[in-house]
Amino acid sequence: MLNELQNQLEKFFKVDKIVINIINEIEKNLLPKFDAIEEIKTYNQFKVLHAMQNCKLGSGDFGWNTGYGYGDVGREKVERIYADIFKAESALVRPSIASGTHAISLVFSGILRPGDELLYITGSPYDTMQKVIGIKGNEPGNLREFKIGYNQVDLVNGHIDIENTLKQINHNTKIVAIQRSTGYSDRNAISITEMKYAISEIKKTNPEILLFIDNCYGEFTQTKEPIEIGADIVAGSLIKNPGGGIAVSGGYIVGDKRYIDTIANRLTAPGLGKDCGLTFGTNRNTLQGLFYAPYVVAEALKGAILMGEVYHKLGFETTPSINDERNDIVQAIKFDDPKKVIEFCKGIQESGAVDSYVTPEAWDMPGYENKVIMASAGFIEGSSIEISADAPLREPYYVYYQGGTNYAQCKLAVIKTVDNLYKKNLIDINKVQVR
Ligand SMILES: *Cc1c(COP(=O)(O)O)cnc(C)c1O
Repeated sequence: MLNELQNQLEKFFKVDKIVINIINEIEKNLLPKFDAIEEIKTYNQFKVLHAMQNCKLGSGDFGWNTGYGYGDVGREKVERIYADIFKAESALVRPSIASGTHAISLVFSGILRPGDELLYITGSPYDTMQKVIGIKGNEPGNLREFKIGYNQVDLVNGHIDIENTLKQINHNTKIVAIQRSTGYSDRNAISITEMKYAISEIKKTNPEILLFIDNCYGEFTQTKEPIEIGADIVAGSLIKNPGGGIAVSGGYIVGDKRYIDTIANRLTAPGLGKDCGLTFGTNRNTLQGLFYAPYVVAEALKGAILMGEVYHKLGFETTPSINDERNDIVQAIKFDDPKKVIEFCKGIQESGAVDSYVTPEAWDMPGYENKVIMASAGFIEGSSIEISADAPLREPYYVYYQGGTNYAQCKLAVIKTVDNLYKKNLIDINKVQVR
């Protein structure tokens, strides 16, 4: 490392030399892993670039109109480009989709009818989805109130239990849902290969069932996306991977036209569907974010690998581990101690560009069961493709670290979190063996 760089880290960020040295040593061994990520990045960058060329994205497409928003060319371009990238017939991409939860909720409420059953085959769904489905809380308008049934098949050793899945499918089952990313759990993300196998087994005996993938945090981590391996409908959030840290808001849903049209009727109104809905000048940022997304995801992945490996060497359990294939950008670390969680989150916040001076505190976030502490220090509020960490304050005190739109900042975050824990005597840095 450059002397200037070392001095800068000590002077600007007040971190201890011993912390910097150890992290530099660990980083050296990770370079081959980084090379593999660069290749996936390049593939996905060409995919996105080609989609933009193929759809003839032009400088005139960034305008927007008022009122009903009929014939908003920018909105239509955005949706065609998304459909192209995700290899889908159609797409619904709107700033009015408030979040990933909203996008997924739209899929379920758009497609499911009274008496239908939704079957999750990746265990307990993401916290916010439990309220949507009606297995937690009693929110008016949840799926249960509309007499939509729910069942789930738990993962076995972190993998889809196909045998049990096929047993649980009945004549009411309309959607089988796979949550690709780990959520607030302790498993790896489901790989594209595993999803492909599960989908083909389900379709073999039940061709009419719709396979839905919650793709939050999974976009651009691999060369293929879920529609390419047989999924029917895929949804995610623009304040995560595909927004590239630049999209100001929104969610996306991709799939066959008939499903997207039905879901669009839920978003707007039956008969209006995709044909209206203002974009409020967001099209340029949505597309610029999408353009940067493969690069940003690669930077975040390299950051996650460094973070995971450093904490592994410090003696913590980490998921995924160094040799696991990455199918989401999340790095989970098990701290077993709320004090460590809090120091870690402070370190993330302190390495941010925005709100770096504030101290994150646990709070009752809408949609979540336990108090959640979140470090979020990006330009887009709550964006988790930018550097961030969140931890529900419950045993065994996992922290989920993700994002970072450039690797240098991710590295600073690793250094800052370790330095905080070191200075509070919460870790034993001398036990780290680099090789
Ligand atoms: C983040 C996330 C969601 C919800 O997305 P929000 O934008 O936070 O509402 C759903 N599922 C998974 C797996 C997620 O990671």
